[in-house]
Amino acid sequence: MIHFDDDEYWAYMDNEAIESEEYTDILNTAIHEIGHAIGIDHIEAKPEAIMAPFYRYTRDAFGNYIPPKLTTFDIAAAQAIYGARKMKTNDEDDNGYNPPSN
Ligand SMILES: [Zn+2]
Repeated sequence: MIHFDDDEYWAYMDNEAIESEEYTDILNTAIHEIGHAIGIDHIEAKPEAIMAPFYRYTRDAFGNYIPPKLTTFDIAAAQAIYGARKMKTNDEDDNGYNPPSN
């Protein structure tokens, strides 16, 4: 279950709202909370990770919005639980079916 706190003011990729520091970027928070929902813990020593233990400010030094992006640390944490995506081989169809060769 993912819960968004009623006490927060949420903005969706709204740079001006986020600049006011009265609003929290819901996209960044949603990705982080979904990470917890699928079993990922905080990644302590990587402040750039979506799964860092604190809110990541989504504006750069020039005041531009930084869209949330999974880092290699976030991806590795998910793959540690679920495994890496299986790459399709040339012989497989789009459903992953590998026809027997004669
Ligand atoms: Zn968290």
